[in-house]
Order: sequence, then C-alpha cells, then structure tokens
Amino acid sequence: MKKIKNYINGEFKAPVQDQWIDNYNPSTGAIYSLIPNSSAADVQIAYEAAAQAFPTWSETSLQQRSEILAKIASLIIENLDQLAQAEAIDNGKPLSLSTSVDIPRASSNFQFFANAITQFASEAHESTGLNAINFTLRQSIGVVGCISPWNLPLYLFTWKIAPALAAGNTVVAKPSEITPMTAYLLGDICTKAGLPKGVLNIVHGLGNTTGQAIIEHPNIKAISFTGGTATGAHIAKTAAPMFKKLSLELGGKNPNLIFADCDYDNMLNTTLRSSFANQGQICLCGSRIFIERTIYDKFKTDFIAKTKALKVGAPLDPETNLGALVSKSHLEKVKSYIDIAEEEGGTILCGGNYVTVNGYEKGYYLQPTIIEINTTDCRLAQEEIFGPVVTIMPFDTDDEALTMANNVRYGLSCTIWTNNLNRSMHLAKHIQAGIVWVNTWMMRDLRTPFGGTKDSGVGREGGFEALRFFTEPKNVCIQY
Ligand code: NAD
Repeated sequence: MKKIKNYINGEFKAPVQDQWIDNYNPSTGAIYSLIPNSSAADVQIAYEAAAQAFPTWSETSLQQRSEILAKIASLIIENLDQLAQAEAIDNGKPLSLSTSVDIPRASSNFQFFANAITQFASEAHESTGLNAINFTLRQSIGVVGCISPWNLPLYLFTWKIAPALAAGNTVVAKPSEITPMTAYLLGDICTKAGLPKGVLNIVHGLGNTTGQAIIEHPNIKAISFTGGTATGAHIAKTAAPMFKKLSLELGGKNPNLIFADCDYDNMLNTTLRSSFANQGQICLCGSRIFIERTIYDKFKTDFIAKTKALKVGAPLDPETNLGALVSKSHLEKVKSYIDIAEEEGGTILCGGNYVTVNGYEKGYYLQPTIIEINTTDCRLAQEEIFGPVVTIMPFDTDDEALTMANNVRYGLSCTIWTNNLNRSMHLAKHIQAGIVWVNTWMMRDLRTPFGGTKDSGVGREGGFEALRFFTEPKNVCIQY
C-alpha cells in the first residue's frame, strides 16, 4: 500500500506519531493509499521550517521568485499525464476533465502569479504643500496557512499557494484528506524547480486535528481557506481572538437564470455543463435553474433528453461524462436530498438513483438528476447539495427571477442567459453574488476578483486581490 508522506523542509517525512488514514479510490470503493494523520507536532515542525525559510525567501529578488514559480508551472505541464491520472483516481472525476481543466489550471496558477508579482507596484503620493512623499510598502506577512477542499484538488491548492509564495511568504499548507495525491506529487515538483527548503510545507491529515493545529497556531498570521460554510465560520471564530487575516471561499447555491431571448443551443449545452461538470461538485455549478415560462416546457424536454444521454462511468474511461462522487458519505448525503424530493413537493424528472458501473460495482456513482420544484422555500432550493442534482422552476417576470435568485443564504455566482443588454446589466447589478456570468459559465480571467458574498465567504482571490491579501500594507511618510 502506497504511503503518502508530509513534505516538510524539502523532504518527505512520516508523521511524528506514525498514525495513518485510509485513502479511498472512489471509483472502486477500495483503499488504495495511506496518508499521514498529522498531529499538532507535525504542524509545528512544518511551521518551524517555514519560519526559518522566511527571511531569505521574502528577500529573494522578484525575478528569482518569479523564475522558480514559472519553473513549477512548466514542470506541472511536463507531468500532466501522471498528475491528471492521479487526480482522476483520487477524486473520481473523469480523466478528460483533470487533463483538460484541473492540471492545466494548476500550472496556470503558478505561471500567472509568477508574472503578476513583477507587476504588483506600490502606490506613492506626493502630499502637496507639506513637502512630503507618502508611499506604501507591500510586505510579506510571514508564515501563512493554506487549506483547500477535495473538489478541485490541485487547482484550488495551487490557487492559494502560488500567490502566497509569489508575495514572499512561506507556507504551511493542508490539502483535503479525501484527495491528497496531487498535493503530495507537487512536493517533488517544487524540489525539482529549485524552491528552497522550507518555503512550502505540505502537511496531510484531518480537518479537526491537522487543520485545527494550523488555524490555532499563534504565529501563522494569515489563513486562506476554501471549503464549507460551517468550517469557514469555525475558522473565523477560532482566528478572531488572534486577529488573523482571513480569506474564506465557502459554499454556493448558484442560480442559473434562463430567458426566452437567449441563444438557446449555447444556453442548453452550457447549462448541461454548469449542472453536472465534475459530478456537480464545483462550488460554481448552477444548481438552481430558473426558466422563463414561455420556454419552460421546451427547455424541460430538451434538458431531460441531454441529461439522460450523459454517460456515468469509471473516471479513466474516455467515454465517461460523469465519474464517481468523491466519497461514500458524500454519495449518501447527495442521495438523501433526492430522497426528500417528494415530501418537499418536488418531482424527479430524470435520474435519482445509484449507478452500478461494470467492473466498478463498489464505486460511488449516481445518475445526473433533475428535480422540478414549485417553491424556492424548500431544502432542495436552499441547501448546498454539491452533487449531480439540480432543481428547475419557471418564472414570469424579471423581478420574479431576481427575487428567486436572491432568496438564498449564499452569494457566490450567478449565470444569466439573455440577449437583452439592459436586462442583463440590471440583473448583474442587483444579483447578490460575487461573480456574474452573462451568456457563459465558468469563464475565468485570472486577473479578476474571485469570491462570494453572504454565506459564500469573505474576501476575494485572484489577480492583485490575492497579492493584496498575502501582503501587509505599510505607509511610509517622508518629509523633505
Ligand atoms: P470542508 O470545509 O469539509 O473541508 C475543507 C478543508 O478544510 C479540508 O482540507 C478539511 O480538512 C479542512 N478542515 C475541516 N475542518 C477544519 C478545521 N476545524 N480547521 C481547519 N481546517 C479544517 O469542505 P469540503 O467538503 O472539503 O469541500 C466542499 C465545500 O467547499 C463545499 O461547500 C464547496 O462549495 C466549497 N468550495 C468553495 C469554493 C469557493 O471558491 N467558494 C471552491 C470549492 C469548494
């Protein structure tokens, strides 16, 4: 059985207490590796390595830092096949997805911040009449913590680590215990790229032990976290008395508003993706679909037909559209929402059952499921399911669509399908969400701010927002 190890001070290390956690392959349901069940002692060793590396790394020239990050980016691409395969096996996602999206994006994260840091200029102001110059130093924070979830494992792990390192911090990072494999492989890539020892330390383990030790550590001054809303609230509560800087990217329950005047074919194909890509396990998936009544029946018929044609299968099968859900407990959680559809007044229009895949009978497979609902005040429309389950419901007016879209505690993203510019601008302004897509979905320019409002989080990642988060501004005023 393969044993994954922590990557601390440039070396792979077993956990101090020699305790291990089973790591399951979701496509087969079998244990296929063991990962460290790291304790606070392991986090402390990682912290000490990071603290020791900080003075040199923070003073390393921008050009040198940038070159090392760019080298990591190119090594990720050189190892694309191995990483994509590891991600598909570890997470259950189709290999085609990890090959085309997850791993290339992990590389882009490093390449983007390798460039961005060289353009991250300080502001200066001449204080006219006072003979003074004010400028802002943007200084590295020190040792920072990065904690990421299982749905886009290397993609989101590197989305935090790359800007943290670019800004001159050293890092103690914890990937999800459910999908540790590509974070483990990243350690070797960082060594090969010449990242100095201790600059990045990767500690594996459970949230409430390893993760807790990171967020409780008095000298880890900033935490960048992506994960569930309840965990985010817990982190905020723990970190508040220590005045830690926090970036929290949390859950979503995103509306997809479809108007009759949209480009129908583009809308239908994209809606299929925004509903079921990665088995619906993307925080940006548009799981609440609202359709203008005049095209409701047509949409319903076409969407059901397209959904039924999707193939649920093993992640490594090139024909697969939906792979396995990430874990048995998550599979059961998602299924439990399907099971309450009827009592909530919903109608299951297609899907709704487990799938048995030949040769992978113990894997965690579920049919893509569409549920028609008649109110937004039900658990199906209010709670994050985070699986291949969407609700559909008609609306009559723009105001009604807006009210339905905003009637939820989350505010991550929204998609609007219309060719009416005034309508799209009006809705974009009034939707309570951090990201609005008009006539597209999940198109990302890495310079733009990424994150949510309401219970979807605090702060923004992406572009200079991330570099601002990972630096401390200091005003210097010089009178001459
Ligand atoms: P989770 O909150 O259970 O875990 C996320 C990470 O936090 C894991 O590494 C986990 O080990 C760690 N963790 C758990 N308890 C902790 C604690 N007490 N202290 C420190 N760390 C702790 O979330 P998940 O189930 O892994 O991921 C799914 C969630 O992530 C969904 O809600 C999804 O919407 C959200 N998500 C949000 C975004 C975004 O950008 N907003 C992106 C992807 C996923």
